[in-house]
Amino acid sequence: MSATAYLQRLQEEVGPRRAGSPGEGAAQVWLTARCRELGLAVESDPFTFIGPENFRPLSNLFMLAWLIGSIALSVSGKTVLGAVGFGLYLGNIFFFQKWLELRLARTLSQNILAGLKRPLSDYVAASQKGPALLLCAHYDTPRNLPPWAHRLQGVYAYIMPLGIIGLLFLGFYLLFVLLNVIGWHWVKPAADFSGRAALILNLPFILAMLLMNLSALFWPRSDSPGADDNGSGTALVVEVARRLKTNPPSNLEVYFAWWGAEERGLFGSRQFVRRFSAQLLKDRFYLLNADCVGVGEKLTVHTGQGLLRRKPADQEALARIERLAARFDIQTIRLWETILSGGTSDHSAWIDRGFTRAVSLLRENQARLSPPARFLAWLLRIPDANQLELLHIHSENDHLAGIRPEILEKTADLAEAYIREVDASLAAGPIVEVKE
Ligand SMILES: [Zn+2]
Repeated sequence: MSATAYLQRLQEEVGPRRAGSPGEGAAQVWLTARCRELGLAVESDPFTFIGPENFRPLSNLFMLAWLIGSIALSVSGKTVLGAVGFGLYLGNIFFFQKWLELRLARTLSQNILAGLKRPLSDYVAASQKGPALLLCAHYDTPRNLPPWAHRLQGVYAYIMPLGIIGLLFLGFYLLFVLLNVIGWHWVKPAADFSGRAALILNLPFILAMLLMNLSALFWPRSDSPGADDNGSGTALVVEVARRLKTNPPSNLEVYFAWWGAEERGLFGSRQFVRRFSAQLLKDRFYLLNADCVGVGEKLTVHTGQGLLRRKPADQEALARIERLAARFDIQTIRLWETILSGGTSDHSAWIDRGFTRAVSLLRENQARLSPPARFLAWLLRIPDANQLELLHIHSENDHLAGIRPEILEKTADLAEAYIREVDASLAAGPIVEVKE
């Protein structure tokens, strides 16, 4: 078999597999059957996600109303109330929302887990743990965005960073007004300017968010075929598992995970990390994630994530994947994940918890960063600020005919080479950690 052959089977035998749809269950059965065929120790891992699809747009609209209220209070003289509202808004976006979502999740789904020699649950429960690598991908597929939403992406690339710059001006405005109150009267012109800038820069962003979330509620959406997002990654993991089973690594235990409900907010991987990461060792656990690996020319290398709490990826893991990509003649794009870069994937929850030896494979072409996005990246000191095209995913066009087999196969070769190199590095003797 090959990754492309597995992908073809998955698309033909299962098709769309959105979380909560019958296809999701079919995908779980299909993956379990492939694992049994290969002689892997397979198990299913039940977890919960937020089932109602209206939850996300409704909560976004609620937060949007909250933001509009805070801005209105701020600029209409009720500065303290506005500042408190704005502070709570930011607190929710950065901290509370993620925490709350996992606790509101009630709908059942399953991750499919497997091991080359023993089940992953065995390894998690073991008191003595050797080095291990988890190769993973999400198997669920998304809904399609409305066709006009894809065309608006170019406009959004301007509006969104302008909106964030507007929020910074709102922060300045509140600061200047408070300074004015305590007697720094000379800051008043700056306050007036910041208040107006906040309103003007935020208006297009607020309108775009209103449009997107209202359309999510009322515009009928079909299922995406999901060949690249993420049939490609799903098939890659099956194919690499097949190769490792025939020729297993000697110093590294390898496990596999196919996550569910990624498109609904990374639920499968987040719930797994929440429940089991405390039992795993950060310096002995490697993660290799594959998401959308069958179309784009370039390979994205995630150098880290976050804006307030910055979490860089492990330098050695980064250097290894870049070195291997060069050997396979694959061009790379370095990318620090923030709201600017667009979506994220199942490596995110791991890096958040300090599992920095995490590499996510994504084949995608680079988009030009809009001038306001460049300005914002400079202002916030975001390293490797880049954006990706990602035009074909979450659309009808993400079908099998759009997959480029040479891209998918080369990425599978790269994933295998990465695992074998980690294995070989462990044979070379104890790793001496060099702290900078
Ligand atoms: Zn995906």
